[in-house]
Amino acid sequence: MIVPRLIERKRDGGRLAPEEVRELVQAYAEGHVPDYQIAALLMAIYFRGLDRAEMNALMDAMLESGERLDFSALPTPRIDKHSTGGVGDKTSLILAPLIASLGVAVPMMSGRGLGHTGGTLDKLESIPGFRTALTLAEAEKQVAKIGCAMLSQTDQIVPADRKMYALRDATATVEVIPLIAASIMSKKISESLSGLVLDIKRGSGSFLPSLDDGIKLSEAMIDLGDQHGCPVVALVTAMDRPLGCACGNALEVAEAIEVLKGGGPPDLVEVTFALGAEMLVLSTLASTRDGARAMMDGAIRSGQALRKFEQIITAQGGDAAVVADPGRLPRSSHIAEFRASSDGVVHSVDPRSIGYGVIALGGGRRNMEEKIDPSVGFVITAKPGDQVAKGQTLATIFARSKSDLEKSRAMLEQAIVISESHPEPLTLVSHRITAGGVESLT
Ligand code: URA
Repeated sequence: MIVPRLIERKRDGGRLAPEEVRELVQAYAEGHVPDYQIAALLMAIYFRGLDRAEMNALMDAMLESGERLDFSALPTPRIDKHSTGGVGDKTSLILAPLIASLGVAVPMMSGRGLGHTGGTLDKLESIPGFRTALTLAEAEKQVAKIGCAMLSQTDQIVPADRKMYALRDATATVEVIPLIAASIMSKKISESLSGLVLDIKRGSGSFLPSLDDGIKLSEAMIDLGDQHGCPVVALVTAMDRPLGCACGNALEVAEAIEVLKGGGPPDLVEVTFALGAEMLVLSTLASTRDGARAMMDGAIRSGQALRKFEQIITAQGGDAAVVADPGRLPRSSHIAEFRASSDGVVHSVDPRSIGYGVIALGGGRRNMEEKIDPSVGFVITAKPGDQVAKGQTLATIFARSKSDLEKSRAMLEQAIVISESHPEPLTLVSHRITAGGVESLT
């Protein structure tokens, strides 16, 4: 294999044979190909794309670079959920215990904050003591015992993807649909799932804002799942405003607990239940989405979902008392209200500004070495379309210092727009995509 010849061919619009892709990924994972050659190839792929055969070969090669979770002795179906990333999106924190409490095994492998978006692992780690770096053996044991494990990608799981993803992040080659699809699906297939539900975000706060790109990504992931006997269902959901009210790690854990107790913001509950219904139907434990919703309602009302969250936290070394008393979560020292400066209608709440605002407060990373402060963030109660009066509270700021409070205030002035006209926010759950096609839910 002569790597410059492969780069040249891709650069000029040609295609790579599946064997070439496999050989290259294996050599890269083993350290026989330098980063600069793969970076050049990734840039060529950014401009020229990959066809289905190349994408399939890439995913297979990445999958082969690591180990898989082994659930061959587990009789229960295994379902995970993956989101393409958003602001205030804490649905995983709710769905893992909720769906596991109903008898479905949920091996949930999640990521950290990326760009302006938050990450499930960072949120979980705001629970004192919670450990996400489980070995595969620990995760397998925990799923068999309590039905759920919430873990990070380790060196054992698709190491080729881990290496290549870090390189993509550093070379501005993340936003390529076949690369995203192969990267995510390699990790999901390594969990030996019986089914996967995707939450494809669209709108200004999403990495792929257009519906068209969201559908293309869903179709690519459905195709990859199909090749490996893992049915995939995708829902397209709105990310033109934050989901729920809380944005920031510990604040989001507290809001997820509220939902597990039967409360929480209606938009968060709606998206969570829509995804959960798909998980339960895929698992075959529910035969209809309405039936699945009734099951989830029951698990919340009876307290079994909440107890499952306590079990997961205890199993992973965390302080499960936060469930009964969220006041035990880290709490910031400076708290202030942000109020409307005029009468009017909330026109927009910009998720990117809010996401970057959380990072500016210390609640996210500017580089991989930075340590995050789990206590900071915002609780934004204003939603697009709300009629508000001057002086009304739109948000609460949680910061480490007075000067951070003031900086956040200035950011919120720009991010929450009040006007005379009524906005047209995106439909919360707008499309359902399966191997059978795209269905509009509006
Ligand atoms: N998340 C991943 O795991 N991979 C990508 O390529 C993009 C987001």
